Amino acid sequence: MTDSPYRIVILGGGTAGWMAAAGLARLLPAADYDITLIESDAIGTVGVGEATLPHIKDFNDMLGLDEAEFMRATMASFKIGIEFVGWGRAGERYIHPFGTFGERWAGADFQHHHARARLAGSDTRSLQAYSFAVAAGRAAAFEHPGEDPASIRSAYAYAYHFDAGLYARHLRQWATARGVRRMEGQVVDVARDGESGDVAALTLESGAEVAGDLFVDCSGFRSLLLGQTLGVPWRDWSEWLPCDRALALACEGTAPLIPLTRCTAQRGGWTWRIPLQHRTGNGHVFASGFCSEEEAERTLRGAIDGAARGEPRLLRFQAGRRGAGWAGNVAAIGLSSGFLEPLESTSIFLIQAAVTDLAALMPRRGDKVDARLRAEFNRLFEIHYDRTRDFIVLHYAANAREGEPLWDHLRHMTLPDSLAHKIALYRESAIAPDYALGLFSRDSWLSVFEGQGIVPRACSPLAERLPLPELQRRLDELAERIAINAAEMTPLADYIAGTCAAEGVV
Ligand code: FAD
Repeated sequence: MTDSPYRIVILGGGTAGWMAAAGLARLLPAADYDITLIESDAIGTVGVGEATLPHIKDFNDMLGLDEAEFMRATMASFKIGIEFVGWGRAGERYIHPFGTFGERWAGADFQHHHARARLAGSDTRSLQAYSFAVAAGRAAAFEHPGEDPASIRSAYAYAYHFDAGLYARHLRQWATARGVRRMEGQVVDVARDGESGDVAALTLESGAEVAGDLFVDCSGFRSLLLGQTLGVPWRDWSEWLPCDRALALACEGTAPLIPLTRCTAQRGGWTWRIPLQHRTGNGHVFASGFCSEEEAERTLRGAIDGAARGEPRLLRFQAGRRGAGWAGNVAAIGLSSGFLEPLESTSIFLIQAAVTDLAALMPRRGDKVDARLRAEFNRLFEIHYDRTRDFIVLHYAANAREGEPLWDHLRHMTLPDSLAHKIALYRESAIAPDYALGLFSRDSWLSVFEGQGIVPRACSPLAERLPLPELQRRLDELAERIAINAAEMTPLADYIAGTCAAEGVV
């Protein structure tokens, strides 16, 4: 072991860069690692990314952030699910809740009981009636989950809607106060080791050289180190995810303030609605092969609830990921490693997963990067990205928007084998394994299967151990308990006003 600390250089100060800086500074022993972050005001950040998943709370808790302070600093609001409007038949909507559906009875998962009662003709409620988070979301209500595991009011988790630029600034303060060195300036040259090909140092416009042992590429869509310098190829997923543009446009006001991200299917893609404390974020993700920018702008302007703040901003992208997340001594995190449209608010989660994986697999001071550590990072990277892709593609594949060219195309596309298998397993037997590894557990899959009309034709024999009248009694009692408890929850706007409102809002 050498005495000098291991030098980690993070290129980029967007959400990915500052989450990486803060996470690594918190998790690694400070005496052994020296962390520098380079960012360029002239280049700026992508500036979108306001909807998150519940894992972000674990990340903030791991850092020890005070929740109310974080919420005021980032204008955050609470979120307990994602509402999908118009993805099934016209007028249909459903919620992907951050919580469970029903309870496990007689050794069988809830969806088997629900399928059995429906197949027997005794239950006509949708699966949505058995989620507390769905009921609270519909009531525009929110409270922190209860602590009694036996209570229905503990059967959910929550995330946030926040201003991603303010979040990066909040983390920057946190990380620089804990020893992360920040350098401002544009990287104009990358020096490589003649023998190994590893990155040796980055040169800034000013001429300053920043040498490192491990480089974390958080340079956004540019992928300056992993993509451009090391040439790690791009895997294009646009055959399944043809949307390649977004227009983003915030508007005044937050009413109705709901604890849900709303994703509404449109002729050429879909629009998002994300209410924060002080404004609402909106955008239209669309496929340029099926929808012009003019049509997308008209659709977006027609979808917003308040006066537009400025003009729409156009972003271009392609769905896919790099062939590997870590090559040589460069690990990429954030947009430099891949992109999936924000339909299920997954990008910030993918950043978080990569930061915690990288921390756990970090070389020790004095060591070279061990190929086995890198291979393990890449194995996890592929699982996170590929499973997330399947879940997002499911929404498109199971659409019921007949007669619209984009949606007809998507309904008939050939699916990734891994997704085709999951759909068939559920349709034929109500089996929905826990595909989670951090993201999208069984209940998430159930919400989309059922919400978009994929209904089981059979259920597990385990569920048949409960006599049908007893099953129906339990279902009725559960649906009623959920409705009563949801009606007692506090309206979201009141809850924020009472706990964490920034000055002058809500
Ligand atoms: P960026 O924000 O682009 O940051 C790149 C950084 O690298 C900047 O600091 C830049 O200055 C620096 N840089 C680049 N080149 C150089 C150089 N040569 N020298 C010095 N510095 C350099 N995610 C979600 O989780 N939820 C959402 O709701 C969501 N919505 C989205 C909507 C759209 C339309 C898009 C496109 C993305 C969305 N995302 C969302 C994704 C989210 O925006 C990103 O994952 C997140 O912002 C991370 O971006 P980043 O830090 O990787 O890149």
